[in-house]
Amino acid sequence: MTDTTLVRCLTFLRLSDEYTAYKTAKNSSERFSTIHIALLRVLVIGLVAFFTLSFLLVLLVSRFNQNYAPAPYIKDATMYFIVVGDWGRNGTMNQLEVANAMGSWCETRAITNNGKCHLIVSTGDNFYDNGVHDVHAKQFNDSFEGIYTHSGLSNTPWYLVNGNHDWRGDPHAQIEYSKYSKRWIFPDYYHSFIIPNLVQFIFVDTTPFLSDYRTNPKMNTKLLEQQNTEKQLIWFKEQVKKGEDAKVLWKLAVGHHPMYSAAGKHGDIPEMISNFEKLMSEEGVHMYWSGHDHNLQHLRNDTARFFNGKLRLPLEHVISGAGSETRDDIEDHPLLKAKQIGSGFVFVKIEREVLTFSFVDYNGQETFTSTIKIW
Ligand SMILES: [Zn+2]
Repeated sequence: MTDTTLVRCLTFLRLSDEYTAYKTAKNSSERFSTIHIALLRVLVIGLVAFFTLSFLLVLLVSRFNQNYAPAPYIKDATMYFIVVGDWGRNGTMNQLEVANAMGSWCETRAITNNGKCHLIVSTGDNFYDNGVHDVHAKQFNDSFEGIYTHSGLSNTPWYLVNGNHDWRGDPHAQIEYSKYSKRWIFPDYYHSFIIPNLVQFIFVDTTPFLSDYRTNPKMNTKLLEQQNTEKQLIWFKEQVKKGEDAKVLWKLAVGHHPMYSAAGKHGDIPEMISNFEKLMSEEGVHMYWSGHDHNLQHLRNDTARFFNGKLRLPLEHVISGAGSETRDDIEDHPLLKAKQIGSGFVFVKIEREVLTFSFVDYNGQETFTSTIKIW
């Protein structure tokens, strides 16, 4: 290195004074002291730069990841997944039987993925009756880790939303549990992920949209008050745009509360219809998956097909809320296409433009199957 380059470097590091002092030092002791001070300054400058850059990097990554879940790898545009809801009851009320039937279906039907489903979708009400109260709650083991142990489910990621029962406890503790379990993927109250050229999942947090909950003393009203539903709807539209940019074939939305339901206990939910039906139909969402009612239902509103002068595929509604306890309360409903009374889940296979979904009971028996094609 020439003297001029060295001087430039030292000037850049604000060490030109030390360089001059070094050059004019009277003896080796003075020279040594000058080098000592220079090294100390380099060390301090280096440390400050390192911590500042690290902080900025962490800030950037966390900002980028907010509301985004990591997507599973799909190797040949064929994917298998299960939708289950309303399940956490320490293995009772058929929860364990449903869990084993889920594993068995993945093992025997997810043929092109070595007997493994790519993911499990939970439609909420993950823990009865009152959610969990902190991230170390016993229910994570007693109702989840210790229940879904079938070899067909091992290492399969779960993507979740909170239901109204989860909102009775600390809904944020379920988000935090993502740090403790590799198969629990719950990055925020609402979140999404995209598998480019194939499918987009958008998970919405529906409990804050139902005004009765905000004044219900059983609910975590303090946290509910902080939820901004308008912001969530704007976010939803932004996600759809990202899915379109990634050329997804399928847009699937997931939430806890259904819009329409033939179950007598809850029935149709006007606040869900007013907030989401037009939005999802206009944005070209193909299916809305929910839970809340303890059975399986397929509904479709064939009249809601024209938006902005375009004929679209009608939004398909599937309720999967029979992960443990069930209710025999299904009544006549003009939009109802199929139902299953009794505990169970929905198994889904996507092969590019073709999506097939099957209702399966807790004995592993298929009770209904339907195919949707994109045109
Ligand atoms: Zn519910």
